[in-house]
Amino acid sequence: MRAMSHRKRSAVEEDLQLKGNGSSIGTDMDWTDFNKEEIAPHVKEITRVLEGKIREQEIEKDLDNYLNVYRMSLEASKRHIVRKYGGDPNALTKGERKMLSQLGLSEQSVDLLVRVMSSNVREVSVGGNPKTIQSGILADENGNTVKFTVWDVSKADLKAGENYLIRYAYTKEWSGQPEVHLGNRVVVELRPQDEVRVPDDVVVPQASSGYSAPIVAKVSDLRENMNNVTLTGRILSLRTKDVETPSGKKSMYTGIIADETGKVEFTAWHDFGLKDNEVITVSNAYVKGWKGIPRLSFGERGQVTRPKIKMPAAAELSQAARKSIDELERAGWASDVIVTGTIVDIKKGTGLIFRCPECNRVVQKGVCQVHGKVQQVPDLRIKVVVDDGSAAITAVMKKDVTEQLTGITLKAALEEARETMDAEAVANRFEEILLAKPIEIRGNVISDDYGLSMNVNEARFIELDVRAEAEVLLKRIEVI
Ligand SMILES: [Zn+2]
Repeated sequence: MRAMSHRKRSAVEEDLQLKGNGSSIGTDMDWTDFNKEEIAPHVKEITRVLEGKIREQEIEKDLDNYLNVYRMSLEASKRHIVRKYGGDPNALTKGERKMLSQLGLSEQSVDLLVRVMSSNVREVSVGGNPKTIQSGILADENGNTVKFTVWDVSKADLKAGENYLIRYAYTKEWSGQPEVHLGNRVVVELRPQDEVRVPDDVVVPQASSGYSAPIVAKVSDLRENMNNVTLTGRILSLRTKDVETPSGKKSMYTGIIADETGKVEFTAWHDFGLKDNEVITVSNAYVKGWKGIPRLSFGERGQVTRPKIKMPAAAELSQAARKSIDELERAGWASDVIVTGTIVDIKKGTGLIFRCPECNRVVQKGVCQVHGKVQQVPDLRIKVVVDDGSAAITAVMKKDVTEQLTGITLKAALEEARETMDAEAVANRFEEILLAKPIEIRGNVISDDYGLSMNVNEARFIELDVRAEAEVLLKRIEVI
């Protein structure tokens, strides 16, 4: 039985190009079947994500098969079924659903089913610019309450008296209590009135008003448009730049500051006497985005102190951090991180492409959509989807990374295309080299309307052979 389930699992993993990890081998030993009742809510969720395009019976059959025959994990099964029918696996719920009484002081991603008891909109100053935020009080069916803040009112507009399913919220501590924050990753769904019935005797506290509470943040907590941020970190690099402003020449101080959660670029618009390698606490800073990556800024209203605390050395902080893709999804960005996973899809425009010399856009048959017929310039590129079992990310590699990873140079690709008179041949070779391969990628991560993507600076294939691992494990058991 055990051997058979291994064989089946291996076969399906081959089939699905799934990456294996140690834990999936472990759970195989004490597996119990999922019954219809346990599967039902997940079938409903997959149906919702696929917008009803596939019948529930069909999905139930698939899910039952992957779970109980192939012994895939629940998460992997759901993601695979959604992908198989052309849906977006990232639309599956990932945050953990909690009641308000269960909220910790620093939840990374949490789902809440709540009623809005009060809500008001106010303007705060973010880096000198006015910004609208929303705050108020949420309550749940148990009658507990919590304060909330919406940082991007275009993502969520919570109206008093309505019920909402809030996904991907996070919490921060304020006066010893958790406060719920709705950042730019949040997804909010209006729910029917009878779904949350708040007890009549709930006491609704006054929401704070008129000022923006300071946020003590780690680097990975930083989000675009945050205001009044306090952050402690070590300065990894520093340079002075003179810039012309309408009010004359000004010095700015830019560099990289890091803590144990990550690195971020900063700009100081005032001379705080900053030094390379020192540990500072900056308060009343604000966060602006640049190409999707947050940047910390502080000016004359900011304060810098030098706390006597332990902080890892610069050499350690400079290393690229290893992250799981769902961690990156929660943060929405990261600067210089390493991800490992399996290439599960190859996007169009991978391999030999041609660009417009004017605007760098990819051209089709020598015609740029803006500049018309142009003298096209050949280039190599890789655009693939990497999945690590927790989530997926689009990895984009420029020519040098592509050449180094595949061993195919632009020159060789051009020659091959010329010889075979077929650009497809190069694309097929790329597919052969890339598809289903475990890979390690390093770079900066951003998220936009198309989801999470990494601008890859380094890439290499790695060994992730789950079948070999399983066989070793089985042999060891037989010896015992
Ligand atoms: Zn062009």
